[in-house]
Amino acid sequence: MDSGMIGKIQKAKRYAEQLDRIRFDAFKVNIEGDNSGHLVSYSEGQWNCDCGFFASRGVCSHTMALERILGVMLPLPREAEPATV
Ligand SMILES: [Zn+2]
Repeated sequence: MDSGMIGKIQKAKRYAEQLDRIRFDAFKVNIEGDNSGHLVSYSEGQWNCDCGFFASRGVCSHTMALERILGVMLPLPREAEPATV
């Protein structure tokens, strides 16, 4: 393996350990729930899910599960961001 590729692999390992480098802008995920599958999407800080609970409450077990998995890789909600001085 050439030295250029070795350097890239070392950098990839370092990036993968520093999760605060990564922020998701948008994605779609299928979650297999206990009763049926659900399509969850995320775009610019907004969640969406096709389940009935999300439609009435704006949050559900599917979106909360993804928040738990992704953690620090999601941007803070706008109202939770510290004010810039
Ligand atoms: Zn849901």
